[in-house]
Amino acid sequence: MTSLYIHIPYCVKKCSYCDFNSGPHPRALMDRYIQALGKELEGTRAISEGFQTVYIGGGTPTALDEAQLERLLTLVKDVTGTNPPREYTIEANPGTLNPEKVRLMKVGGIDRVSLGVQSFSEGGLEILGRIHSPLEAEEGFYVLRDAGFSNINLDLIFGWPGQTLEEWGQDLQKVLRLGPEHVSAYCLTIERGTPISMDVRTGRLTGSDEDLQHKMFKKAHASFTRAGYKHYEISNFALKGRECLHNINYWNNGPYLGLGAGAFSYVDGRRYSNVKDVQKYIEKITSGRRAVSFTETLPSRRRAAETLVMALRMHSGIAEGEFHRRTGYSLTELYGPSIEKFQHLGLLSLTGGRLRLTQKGLFLANQVMVEFV
Ligand code: SF4
Repeated sequence: MTSLYIHIPYCVKKCSYCDFNSGPHPRALMDRYIQALGKELEGTRAISEGFQTVYIGGGTPTALDEAQLERLLTLVKDVTGTNPPREYTIEANPGTLNPEKVRLMKVGGIDRVSLGVQSFSEGGLEILGRIHSPLEAEEGFYVLRDAGFSNINLDLIFGWPGQTLEEWGQDLQKVLRLGPEHVSAYCLTIERGTPISMDVRTGRLTGSDEDLQHKMFKKAHASFTRAGYKHYEISNFALKGRECLHNINYWNNGPYLGLGAGAFSYVDGRRYSNVKDVQKYIEKITSGRRAVSFTETLPSRRRAAETLVMALRMHSGIAEGEFHRRTGYSLTELYGPSIEKFQHLGLLSLTGGRLRLTQKGLFLANQVMVEFV
């Protein structure tokens, strides 16, 4: 399976916690960016027959204006039209959606929308520096539903400074009342250099402690699984058959092409990425050059390590036979002592030849993963 990722590095305003390649840009620059994307997309035509999933992410693709969004969706359709993907997702943010954009998304063939609500707490949204209110988040969801989208993901963040377990419980209840098909719930990571990290460092905000984050994680697991969602990946929950195929391809360490500024690709064990700078990306592509600025070929041992670490993110883990088939290595020969150690700590289970994180291991996944890379 091959996946296509298209990066839109544009947001209305930078959120306080964000270190992605995104930010506000002049409209004219985004016009040129989309033109450049069209050229890069054109270059994929030869292999586009194989795209199983397409994902337009960012940034905030829905912050583009109607004409830009229509142009972008038309460019993608031109390349994938005769063989539409099995799943076609766009990321959207509340406060940037309107009925016309949603109509364009529908006409453009998009069948899955990932809506970044992050929280329904007024104070939480303010701390996170989001541009929208809780009400706009809810309205965004209903605009999508009313347009007929039947596969919606809601993105949530927990563990933001000052958030209580009760507030998190209220967010969970709100999401369950809305009833999306998929929920991503990420624990806030305070990235260096972001405004929120400065606020925590100077004591203006108090970071959430690990014990509380663990309780929040467990609360999310309990709430969603009780409501019929499957906790199929560390941070992801889905109703039956609504797991995100695009991300599953990443977790299976499968091949993907990334287009746009800073986008990564992974093909035949080679990983490469485009220049992050939007201007430079446009210049390179429009002058007929490639925009690749970094490339590495992964040695087979590292590919094996990445295959394991990515697979462990999913509840299904990985079977020993599958690991051998994909990497050429024996799982227990490579990692026997580490696997035993984590089994004793109750973080990993190896039953019926399948290795997976336990419930306890899911929250402490990072501590397990570092041992394998
Ligand atoms: S909307 Fe998303 S990509 Fe844009 S600044 Fe906020 S977190 Fe970053």
